[in-house]
Amino acid sequence: MEDPDRTYDPTTQLIHGRMRSDAWEYGHHLVPPISTSTTFRLDSTLRGATGFQEYGHPEVPDHHIYIYDRLREPNKDMLEERLAVAEGGEIAVTYATGMAAISAALGVLTRAGDHVLTHRAMYGCTHSLLHRWYPRMNVDVSDADLRDVAAAMEQVRPETRVVYLETPANPTMDIIDLANLAAELRLVNAGRREEERIWMVVDNTFSTPFCQRPIEHGADFVVHSLTKGLSGFGTDMGGVVIGPRTHHTDLLMYRKDFGGVLSSRAAWAVLAYGLPSLAVRVRHAQETAGQIARYLEDHPMVSRVAYPGLPSFEGHAVARRQMRDYDGHFAPGTLIYFELVGATPAERQQAGARFINHLAGNAYTVTLAVSLGNVRTLVEHPSSMTHAPIPPEDQVRAGIDPSGIRLAIGLEAVADLRHDLEAALEASRHAVPV
Ligand SMILES: *Cc1c(COP(=O)(O)O)cnc(C)c1O
Repeated sequence: MEDPDRTYDPTTQLIHGRMRSDAWEYGHHLVPPISTSTTFRLDSTLRGATGFQEYGHPEVPDHHIYIYDRLREPNKDMLEERLAVAEGGEIAVTYATGMAAISAALGVLTRAGDHVLTHRAMYGCTHSLLHRWYPRMNVDVSDADLRDVAAAMEQVRPETRVVYLETPANPTMDIIDLANLAAELRLVNAGRREEERIWMVVDNTFSTPFCQRPIEHGADFVVHSLTKGLSGFGTDMGGVVIGPRTHHTDLLMYRKDFGGVLSSRAAWAVLAYGLPSLAVRVRHAQETAGQIARYLEDHPMVSRVAYPGLPSFEGHAVARRQMRDYDGHFAPGTLIYFELVGATPAERQQAGARFINHLAGNAYTVTLAVSLGNVRTLVEHPSSMTHAPIPPEDQVRAGIDPSGIRLAIGLEAVADLRHDLEAALEASRHAVPV
């Protein structure tokens, strides 16, 4: 409290100033301010003690005694509320990155001696997390082709606690039948004690909740990289876990203790720009993706196109059932995976490299860069880039061809994208040795 009768030293005034305004009524801002304080004034030890007692307490879900940014702060709280609504989940907890969110989801659901079953194709760093680190913690990980749910269920063991998947899977676009898998797991869980049940965790980054909401189809948890479509502009990293209220305390405690906290500035950006523009961005990019997928499918240099919206795609029928926007329209998303022609793996690898390098050197609208869900169209070569941590023989098993290209459609005009793609496909043609 400032003593009005005292003249404080200028250096003290530089520190304290007043830093408060009676005119700043948070609730009257159209866009909330960014929370810029790592710590919060507590007024009394009672308030401090209450804040710590209530933190993450399952019976005080809405407590608002802020203590320290790593515990909670207003921007993350507001974002978490929005994200839970977007996915139709009970609660959401945000993290520093998508990988921090995936680590948290798996971290709260597994312990030494458990087994995790995954789909065979998935994001490279998730593969690395599970195969480089989890064995050290005595958590066993194996994969299956979850497109064949009945066959994959034979891989379930008594110690299986998590079935983890992406659909569409990165980068192959494999589609896994969420409702069917959830039903099979419900059957297994019906015969198990609660602490031995299997949780179904879905990475929904490729679809965003605009195109697909796995919890509606029976998944227990959804994880996202907020870095991608949910933030949309490529300026901030983040992640989120959405799931049942039973796990809110663990997810908050995990974040507090492992420390992978989303910055308030990143939370604010997703809240202010990412979520409000999600529907209009995805609708537009998805329309373009459909046109580009059809164009690629008809191109002589392209041997195969995996896009959920194409009737020729093997996952089309299941995608049609479960990829639906908020109005119920089929929402096949903005990601395309395709392969180039070539008689041998080496030829295909060359064609892929030539295609990508031509884009990198010449294209105006298509940028060689990892990430996706951006306003800009991004292209990458999974086998040598994002999925390089997966050994070559496992890549083949996972359906990743050496020529495979992942294209993440942005908001450019479709004619300009086609122009750049056509030039690069033409260049890749000359690479194939005769
Ligand atoms: C990018 C990505 C991640 C990891 O997210 P980060 O924010 O980069 O940590 C996880 N899963 C998928 C499908 C992704 O595309």
